[in-house]
Amino acid sequence: MRSKIFVRVVCGLIVLLCPPAFAQGILADDPVRVLVGRLDLERYKATIKGLTEFGDRRQGTDRNRAAIDWIEGRLKSFGCTNTERIKYVYNPPPPQSQTQPARASSPVIASGEIRTGSGGSRMRGITAPTGVNNNPEAQPDVKLRELNSQPSAPGPREEVYCTKIGATRPDEMYIISAHMDGIGWGEAVDDNGSGTALIIELARVLNSPDVRTERSIRFALWNNEETGLHGARAYVAQRAALQGIEDPPGSGRYPEPKWLGMVQHDMVLFDHGMPRAGGTLSPEQRPEADVNVEFQSTAKFADQAMRLAFFFRDANEKYATDYPAAVGHHMTNTDSTPFMDLVPAISVRENERGMQIGAGWSPHWHQPTDRYSAYSDKDFRLGLNAAQTTLAAIAQLTGAALKK
Ligand SMILES: [Zn+2]
Repeated sequence: MRSKIFVRVVCGLIVLLCPPAFAQGILADDPVRVLVGRLDLERYKATIKGLTEFGDRRQGTDRNRAAIDWIEGRLKSFGCTNTERIKYVYNPPPPQSQTQPARASSPVIASGEIRTGSGGSRMRGITAPTGVNNNPEAQPDVKLRELNSQPSAPGPREEVYCTKIGATRPDEMYIISAHMDGIGWGEAVDDNGSGTALIIELARVLNSPDVRTERSIRFALWNNEETGLHGARAYVAQRAALQGIEDPPGSGRYPEPKWLGMVQHDMVLFDHGMPRAGGTLSPEQRPEADVNVEFQSTAKFADQAMRLAFFFRDANEKYATDYPAAVGHHMTNTDSTPFMDLVPAISVRENERGMQIGAGWSPHWHQPTDRYSAYSDKDFRLGLNAAQTTLAAIAQLTGAALKK
């Protein structure tokens, strides 16, 4: 009895060491394969397209609030009916500290020096300038410019999440998430309609009536990422201390199951490679494009996060259809950061944030061109492969099975 309790405690703490038996090999009726097969490119694209109806979804605007309502409606329609909202207040810093550099045009070509990037990364080769477009006139589409015209107002904010309750371990959960706000006067399609749609699609598959999981899964769509992770920070501040508490006592209900891992998705479409010497990029997704899973080597839970990241890479190798996954150790500038000293936390992206996105590998990042029409099926397919990767990993980690 004592050793049984011990095993359970160890498995609870280090869930990666005790994967469900079916993770070891792929069987003909492998439930993970069945679930991954329920994702498809056209549905994923349609969900992204649905989000473009709300323009750039800038935080503190009516279009942002309407997008939250729409997302909540989608979650509910897929059976994730227990939606809840985090409420917090966001007051921006004075305008002078908000000024962003305009996007410059000339690339920098390395000459052997060490150039550091964010998160502990090192920039390599040719880097193109990055920046945030704050100029409405840079959006040539008059209709979209008008849709994006209401400015952000300080004050109350909301963000939505819902939870699939685990059948035998309702008190433990994985959080899978994306930020739903955007900037730049486009449609915020890659950043971050792509991650938001990924979470909505996973909510659809995992909340299907014939799917059972042992552990709980929370689907969270953060707001205010673009202002400095304020939505994710509010969640951590309000809910970290509630973990694992049964409320009311004896009810079997856990409003905040214990966090086993946190997985953030942010920009999952575009991997066209390094900028060229002239500052342009390949118009096509590069054939060797990959999904980048990152943890932060300085985090308190770095070792466990590293194991989680490689578990995702493994899940990708077994189940993703087209593109591989790579693991990096410089996770930065994303909503998993506020979690990383409390729980194993990773991010899933189209490129590494520090040395690639930060080096100008996406010409649409925070720009008016971040629109649905800017991406091809090869781009959307990279996002689909990111979805397959997370679905396969989380299905295994939570013990997903199909009801007979
Ligand atoms: Zn983003």
